[in-house]
Amino acid sequence: MVVGDFALELDTVVIGAGPGGYVAAIRAAQMGQKVAIIEREYIGGVCLNVGCIPSKALIAAGHHYQEALHSQMFGVTADNVTLDFAQTQDWKDNGVVNKLTSGISFLLKKNKVEVIEGEAFFVDDRTLRVIKEDSAQTYEFNNAIIATGSRPIEIPGFKFAGRVLDSTGGLNLKEVPKKLVIIGGGVIGAELGGAYANLGAEVTILEGSPQILPTYEKDMVKIVEEDFAKKAVTIVTKAMAKEAIDNGDSVTVNYEVDGKQESITADYVMVTVGRRPNTDDMGLEQAGVTIGERGLIPVDKQGRTNVSNIYAIGDIVPGAALAHKASYEAKVAAEAISGKKVEVDYKAMPAVAFTDPELASVGLTIAEAKDQGIEAKAIKFPFAGNGRALSLGKTEGFVRLVTTIEDHVIVGAQVAGVGASDIISELALAIESGMNAEDIALTIHPHPSLGEIVMDAAELALGLPIHA
Ligand SMILES: Cc1cc2nc3c(=O)[nH]c(=O)nc-3n(C[C@H](O)[C@H](O)[C@H](O)COP(=O)(O)OP(=O)(O)OC[C@H]3O[C@@H](n4cnc5c(N)ncnc54)[C@H](O)[C@@H]3O)c2cc1C
Repeated sequence: MVVGDFALELDTVVIGAGPGGYVAAIRAAQMGQKVAIIEREYIGGVCLNVGCIPSKALIAAGHHYQEALHSQMFGVTADNVTLDFAQTQDWKDNGVVNKLTSGISFLLKKNKVEVIEGEAFFVDDRTLRVIKEDSAQTYEFNNAIIATGSRPIEIPGFKFAGRVLDSTGGLNLKEVPKKLVIIGGGVIGAELGGAYANLGAEVTILEGSPQILPTYEKDMVKIVEEDFAKKAVTIVTKAMAKEAIDNGDSVTVNYEVDGKQESITADYVMVTVGRRPNTDDMGLEQAGVTIGERGLIPVDKQGRTNVSNIYAIGDIVPGAALAHKASYEAKVAAEAISGKKVEVDYKAMPAVAFTDPELASVGLTIAEAKDQGIEAKAIKFPFAGNGRALSLGKTEGFVRLVTTIEDHVIVGAQVAGVGASDIISELALAIESGMNAEDIALTIHPHPSLGEIVMDAAELALGLPIHA
């Protein structure tokens, strides 16, 4: 502390206002704690500002554009369909992102959470220094929840500048590129590749592994690949990106496939090969907090680090980097600080890829179930057998239930198809509640709805299918 600098006292302090941090702050306040949240850049974090939400806005815009162009099957044709991308970006920023983030600011205020602008650094396990552009302040705290999130990984030869973009640059383009190269066909790359393809770009995805979307099963990914093949999306797997050369008005990407040197020239290259946790450069070692493999902070089942009054949640702790995981861990940590006997249980943690069609999974795959020694079977019901899917003109995909053989308990589920991101919630609830296929089959599902596919799959698992 600088001479003359008096430390201000805080009870619970949250660092980072993403879906981990702001949820932790609100829940801690609801539990009666006096809470402050420190944020250096934007309320809402990556997710609301440059992640989940703006990407879904661009994906939605791409769908509207494609529907305007290709609805002849429904007897609908439109002439002179145009895309005003400046308007799309304005709607994304002002119609969606700003509305949501100001909503979060309102909620923090309503819950009497003090918002402190600036970058936080640990001085020790009870003291933080918060630096602003032109000032600094020291705070002493009783408990801290670190929720500082992650940032895109830069790879050698692809320095983020000019025509070499990270996902944030990719979300904020001023025009739809004629040609776009994406390095990394994981969820973020595939989602944004699909969005720009729908908006009219010719997209090439260079992926190092043998398959894009490597966290999803082959039969699910195949449906997305088929959709990409219908659009102007080329997928090159087992491709090692070497370097990007900025030509001023274009960028050339050199890469290697099976020992052969290749190159492709495009308007932009976007690198989405993964994200690095923001755990460096914030004095964690001064607080005595252990940083583990890949910069992630090991925590116990309540989110507590090795330092008993400091918790960590979200992208900076092991597990999938997902917004809803961050928010879930946030509530557990905030309640644990308040003395509640809570702990995390990830068995019903869903994951979604907002591709065409959407892919979603929760719980175990059949392979994972067998690896764990569970006697399980997998049952698949197609979207093509569902009236609602047919009337939407979206019949690609399936719902798969993974159940125990003996008593049909749902241990996992995968959905590939329109609305998968919503359908998966019913299956997450089923797993969370220990339901079996009979519980789902006996639940009355509205007709006609995509939810009926889950009921049909459950009946199939019981050997009593009506629609198969
Ligand atoms: C393009 C894209 C699309 C995505 N889509 C989805 C999706 O559809 N669904 C999904 O579940 N997830 C999605 N994600 C992942 C999701 O955004 C993250 O998992 C989520 O934001 C993690 O939340 P968090 O609270 O841990 O961190 P963040 O959201 O990263 O928030 C951390 C905050 O901490 C602040 N901060 C960092 N260091 C300091 C410091 N020292 N002092 C003060 N403040 C600090 C940062 O400014 C930031 O605001 C997407 C990510 C990207 C990039």
